[in-house]
Amino acid sequence: MAKKRDYYEVLGVPRDASEADIKRAYRQKAKECHPDLHPNDKSAEERFKEINEANEVLSDADKRARYDQFGFDGPAMGGSGGFGGFDFSGFGGAGMGSFDSIFDQLFGGAMGGQRRQGPQPGNDLRFDMNISFEEAAFGAEKSFDFFRNESCDSCDGSGAKPGTQPQTCPTCKGSGQVRAGGGFMVTVRTCPTCRGEGKIVKEKCPACSGSGHMRKKRTATVKIPAGIDNGQTIIMNGQGEPGTRGGPNGDLYIRVGVKPHKLFKREGTTLRLDMPISITQAALGADVDIPTLKSPVKYHIPEGTQNDDLFRLKGYGIQQLQGSGKGDLVVRVRVEVPRKLSEKQKELLRQLEDSTTGKEYEGRKSFMEKLKGMFN
Ligand SMILES: [Zn+2]
Ligand SMILES: [Zn+2]
Repeated sequence: MAKKRDYYEVLGVPRDASEADIKRAYRQKAKECHPDLHPNDKSAEERFKEINEANEVLSDADKRARYDQFGFDGPAMGGSGGFGGFDFSGFGGAGMGSFDSIFDQLFGGAMGGQRRQGPQPGNDLRFDMNISFEEAAFGAEKSFDFFRNESCDSCDGSGAKPGTQPQTCPTCKGSGQVRAGGGFMVTVRTCPTCRGEGKIVKEKCPACSGSGHMRKKRTATVKIPAGIDNGQTIIMNGQGEPGTRGGPNGDLYIRVGVKPHKLFKREGTTLRLDMPISITQAALGADVDIPTLKSPVKYHIPEGTQNDDLFRLKGYGIQQLQGSGKGDLVVRVRVEVPRKLSEKQKELLRQLEDSTTGKEYEGRKSFMEKLKGMFN
């Protein structure tokens, strides 16, 4: 296995790069060598993987700290595993993987002595959206409301009552960090009084209770690409919460849930349908209307069709996500034996049975032959 390159080197950022720098560098690099732009270029694909792996670690404060301290052995990073199918143009794979770090940011915990003084990127947000089977198959444009924390209008985000100013934190004297312990074991932690801000608010802004932000309802419109599947994620860049001190906005991750269909089942781009037909249709053959997602198509079921026979309708399946091809519709025929027959119908069937010579039923014939001689 080739020697791994240093993650900072991979993203081209200095070791003290801020979260915002890392995010920016990652986006830039991911765009440059995205596999879609370099089809059949193995090395671009490798670089893309490398960049994603570096970002996965460096964008997570916890993993980054362990990496800084112990190198590749540090974080339980799992190499290139775990980060499936990220795509800058908008679709993630089924698992996004890094929501833990998002929650850490939301609740301000677990980040240790991270720099809080410089620009901070805004939090990423997640939105669960349910769409119909057809919307997933054909694509759609959907508007939706969501809430995000934005800077408070009254105090402009400072948290201080309008007319007053936040004051330098007495605990850390404005540095945002406190030192604990002595000798070999000095640890630097985020100041608990000001939570790393370096400032405290004496008189709180009444509009936001001193938090500096307010929950606001926003409306966004997302283009759902044709072919998206249950559990996949669409990323709306920059639609998350606003960054602070000039940091970039977070992103909005839309996780798509696809409602099941009454008739069709989906496996990737293949559409499956179970269709009942009568014993007469199966025996004689029949022209039937097979439902598809758009409109029914005429199809000839051949004479002698058996239960569970499969018929493939090319191109009547699901559109490939980000591709031009379409999957197939696979129809499984269920031959239904009639119940509640009238006396007349039963008589017709008896006549049919009486007229059989044996060669009409291959399976039964071979069964009878195997049976011969067994009980003599
Ligand atoms: Zn306020
Ligand atoms: Zn402080």
